[in-house]
Amino acid sequence: MCGIVGYIGDKNCVPVVIDGLKRLEYRGYDSAGIGMFNNGGISVTKVIGKVENLQQEVKNQGLDSTTGIGHTRWATHGEPNVLNAHPHSNNDGTLIVVHNGIIENYPTLKAGLKKLGYTFKSATDTEVLAHLFDAYLKSGYPFFEAVRRGLKDVEGTYGIAVISTKEPDRIVVAKKGSPLLIGVGEGENFVASDAASIVQHTKKVVYLEDGEMAEVFKDHYHTKTTDDEEVNKEVHQIEMTLEEIDKGGYPTFMLKEIMEQPESLKNSIRGRLLQETGDVKLGGLENVLDHLLYVKRFLIIACGTSWHSALVAKSMFETYLRIPTEVEYASEFRYRNPIVGPGDAAFFISQSGETADTLAALKEAKRLGALCIGVCNVVGSSIARESHSGVYIHAGPEIGVASTKAFTAQLAVFALITILLARRKGMSVEEGQSLVSEFAKIPETVRGILSQNDLIEGIAEKLKNATNFLYLGRGYNFPVALEGALKLKEISYIHAEGYPAAEMKHGPIALVDENMPVVFIAPKDATYDKIISNIQEIKARKGKVIAIATSDDENIDQLADYSIKIPVTRSILMPILTVIPLQLLAYHIAMKKGLNVDQPRNLAKSVTVE
Ligand code: GLU
Repeated sequence: MCGIVGYIGDKNCVPVVIDGLKRLEYRGYDSAGIGMFNNGGISVTKVIGKVENLQQEVKNQGLDSTTGIGHTRWATHGEPNVLNAHPHSNNDGTLIVVHNGIIENYPTLKAGLKKLGYTFKSATDTEVLAHLFDAYLKSGYPFFEAVRRGLKDVEGTYGIAVISTKEPDRIVVAKKGSPLLIGVGEGENFVASDAASIVQHTKKVVYLEDGEMAEVFKDHYHTKTTDDEEVNKEVHQIEMTLEEIDKGGYPTFMLKEIMEQPESLKNSIRGRLLQETGDVKLGGLENVLDHLLYVKRFLIIACGTSWHSALVAKSMFETYLRIPTEVEYASEFRYRNPIVGPGDAAFFISQSGETADTLAALKEAKRLGALCIGVCNVVGSSIARESHSGVYIHAGPEIGVASTKAFTAQLAVFALITILLARRKGMSVEEGQSLVSEFAKIPETVRGILSQNDLIEGIAEKLKNATNFLYLGRGYNFPVALEGALKLKEISYIHAEGYPAAEMKHGPIALVDENMPVVFIAPKDATYDKIISNIQEIKARKGKVIAIATSDDENIDQLADYSIKIPVTRSILMPILTVIPLQLLAYHIAMKKGLNVDQPRNLAKSVTVE
């Protein structure tokens, strides 16, 4: 999920690779490494933390080579430490690989390779690739063919670069689900996961598509598919500025992260939905499943946006599992002398896994004897390490301060946990299959909602001068109302409140006049008729209504001033859809006010202080 840079030519690869990796730093990573040919062998240098440290280490060792590959790692399998950093080598150190993505079937491959006598040094999924390619090389295939055959055994996603002392005149690269491109130079070539890292050397690039691979020499390259067919690739001329490329062509990280939710959601659910059996697989919970099924109570503890995910999760758990669930603010929990004990299971949600209050609450719940489960994005983070077990949300690095893709990934993970436990508590196979097949469609459904960006921008233009907003929803969508209001407050500095729609009559309705936009989250679910009455009440007081409604709702357009339609799905999955227009609405209002949405005033990305 992070970065790859490689060089082959006549120059020293070290500065090219190191500078390239520095250009990828904005993506967030936890460790870095470089490997290059050296005295007939391959030398590998890896560090925890910054590329700066890697640079120093390579300098200390006086390394210099005309061919090398480098990597910044954003851990998905195995803690961020030096052993797990890339490149990974085969057992005799004659082949190395750097990899972005996830090898889903690595446990099976690892078991098979161990039987062949291979030994493993790291806890990563990636290391299987080094041994797998080695096994094919040792059985007589040329280097490129060995990699191609190895990849046929692999399930999952990858952008990879590989070098081998057997054929040191080339770098072999391949792509499936993670980006990989070739930078075409004069008497030298580059490989990279992102054009930003090589644009200072060449503007000519060849983008590999999924299922394609290449062998890159210093003065030419050769592309094929992993099915062994020849492909002729077009050479593109890059025209973007460096700044634009860093953000993948988007003007801000926040918009990039909103727009990449179809992909981040796919990563969150990849390998976890079992369509045939209508089941869910979460490796991180396997050893605590029995315990989870028999606890008396669930607690979910979080701050900010994660606290909103916790509220949605409460509805999921109580509806499907009938286990009483309490949601707590981490900062309140830890100072309240909470009543917690061995009969409880407590979930701790944090994107960074470093949120100070959540971490302290976790330590307290652990001390009191609760089973503690982390739900984090950053692998190997403090909360992930402190918990008894956990589930990673796999949203990829989130840079924008206002959380977007981490929120939807958290919702996806709690829906997965719910289905996993519900199936063990008696949910039928048919119901499981129906939920799982609906779930599998969610990433593409989100893509469809994102295509209404222009419509939402138009609504933002009309509302940008409002000074107050109300966000109202019921049931699963009440926390989405809170999240929509929080997004607007965070980045546009407009005062906004989220309420359960019916609560509006107990106070906030006093604020409603013709200047007050009221955003209703009103999908056609069990509470639809009630929410329509609430919309009528706002209209009667001349408030402006913005409705997030389902596509089967033909009447809403007559009632609302503006409506944004989303496809129909199961209620448990609905918040993943309903929040998308609210993220875009907040985004466009803030942009129209000329504000810095990636770094809003006074806010920090990960709150590591109390
Ligand atoms: N899954 C690999 C790991 O955890 C690659 C992560 C990445 O893309 O940086 O090591």
